[in-house]
Amino acid sequence: MGIVYLTGAGPGDIELLTLKAYQVVQEADVIVYDRLANPDILKEAKESCELIFVGKADSHHILAQDAINELLYQLALKYDKVVRLKGGDPLVFGRGGEEALYLKSKGIKFEFIPGITSAIAVPEYAGIPVTHRGVTTSFCVVTGHESPDKKESQIPWDNFKSNDTIIFLMGLNNLKKISKKLIEIGKAKDVPVAVISRGTTKEVKSVTGTLENIYEKAKDLPTPALIIVGEVVRLQKDLAWYKECYPQQ
Ligand code: SAH
Repeated sequence: MGIVYLTGAGPGDIELLTLKAYQVVQEADVIVYDRLANPDILKEAKESCELIFVGKADSHHILAQDAINELLYQLALKYDKVVRLKGGDPLVFGRGGEEALYLKSKGIKFEFIPGITSAIAVPEYAGIPVTHRGVTTSFCVVTGHESPDKKESQIPWDNFKSNDTIIFLMGLNNLKKISKKLIEIGKAKDVPVAVISRGTTKEVKSVTGTLENIYEKAKDLPTPALIIVGEVVRLQKDLAWYKECYPQQ
């Protein structure tokens, strides 16, 4: 019986892969990978390594996740080293916990290998620190997948009244509703917002605006993209360092 490494692939730039992840990728007998994991990482696998893409799960998410859980289990029966490679960190909206629970229930050993999450690295490559002394004392990472007008929203919108930095993942499709909701709960219309698409890669696009106008400016950006809301966004004009990522207004 093998072991499954639930592994973070980092946010895009292959050089942000951890040494530990690099090592298990090189040793893997099979790699089960997502749409968000940089495919160049797979070139590091040994020739005999089986590569299985399980990326397109959007419309049948739950079924697909069950199928992935079962696939990992079956692969662990067949192979010594199974790598489950996910974009960013496996436990930040990565469903790594669900996969681990399933494997555990089947008596399969697993390890988590943390990855650099897009939530922090993507703003960082765009010159936006998620915290900054004197500007914000905390940041939170929120799913943008859930529509803010959903009645039984699980998101604690009222907590966002403070000056914290808010980072929405999976939120591009809900950008209009998210900005509207933040204004509704009392945030000023001119709170700065950045939307960063394909962060940490050469295809990066970073658009900045305010809660009031960001939707019009950013709605056509390609995915994956994240939304960062808060005063820290203003630092981008001084801190942009990654040349593909100078702000576009
Ligand atoms: N586990 C991942 C997040 C998975 S949720 C992590 O830790 O990074 C997927 C969301 O992450 C996307 O919808 C997008 O909001 C964000 N994301 C991932 N990679 C990104 C990138 N290169 N640029 C911008 N956003 C990214």
